[in-house]
Amino acid sequence: MIFIIATVKQLGFCWGFYAHKHINKHAVYSLPESSLLVFFKTNSDFITSNAVKPDQRRYIVKEEACRHYIDLDVYKKDTSLKSLPKYFSQAQELLSADTLEKHGILPWHIFKTYNMLVKAMKDKDAEKILRIASDLGHYIGDAHVPLHTTHNYNGQLTNQVGIHGLWETRVPELLSINYDLLAGKAAYIDDVQALAWSTVYKSNNAVDSVLKFEAQLSSSISEDHKYSFEEKNGITLRTYSPAFSSQYSKLLNGQVERQMLSAIKTLADVWYTAWIDAGQPDLSNFAAPILIEEPQEKELNIKNDRFLESHNCDQHHNLFKHSFLTKN
Ligand SMILES: [Zn+2]
Repeated sequence: MIFIIATVKQLGFCWGFYAHKHINKHAVYSLPESSLLVFFKTNSDFITSNAVKPDQRRYIVKEEACRHYIDLDVYKKDTSLKSLPKYFSQAQELLSADTLEKHGILPWHIFKTYNMLVKAMKDKDAEKILRIASDLGHYIGDAHVPLHTTHNYNGQLTNQVGIHGLWETRVPELLSINYDLLAGKAAYIDDVQALAWSTVYKSNNAVDSVLKFEAQLSSSISEDHKYSFEEKNGITLRTYSPAFSSQYSKLLNGQVERQMLSAIKTLADVWYTAWIDAGQPDLSNFAAPILIEEPQEKELNIKNDRFLESHNCDQHHNLFKHSFLTKN
């Protein structure tokens, strides 16, 4: 057995590997009766497993990272703008490319991805529809995580490093078995770009409680009780204890569950809206499962500090290497 003590900042296994898949999978079953539902249900395994693709792409596509977050607090402080421009073309006129890359473009990218989905549906391009719909699920999922809307994305400015993984991974991993994730049937959205904005602003409003309750709980509990050791794939890791995680969740009063449920409903709504806006193409011809060969992963050569810090992915790669070596 390999024994590794992870530091606090290395905790977490990505909303990506757990909740993202749940969100994509449940959204499929929120679609109303339609050829879209038939097509997505038949391909739900692909849509589920590809929910994590955009996070994996961050290592091979330089432009990918900034699509996953928006530092709304920094934009408020560092720009003279009263509010951020609704559309990306306006943002590009007002803000430098560096600023946009540094502080993120998540709500604009949701709208762009939605437009790509409408086009793929109009073209009846089955493979593209599935890939883009899966990606859209990922970005809409990220938009529901309060810490994806702030510069203090991993509590690094408030001595709460590790909180990113606690909120978006540890809590759902331990407690989502009891979540009610039935989102109700999808509905048409009049203004998808406006919805993307209201989603990130709502998430950002929750940042205060995300930080406050962790600080409150940490000050009332010893380190011994805050963390515990757990074995995963033959490796022992220090992680937030189940007791600490569930007390934190209780203080948040169901916030993680509510955000997951909202992500599922929003995703189903946006998929359905794209299909309506594409002219309700008949996708029943694609009803048989479509097996898409995955391209070989290229060299993982882009180091994204922000992502590694908050998602423990360096650790993952090391762990993968270790388990690979021990197997051989
Ligand atoms: Zn992401």
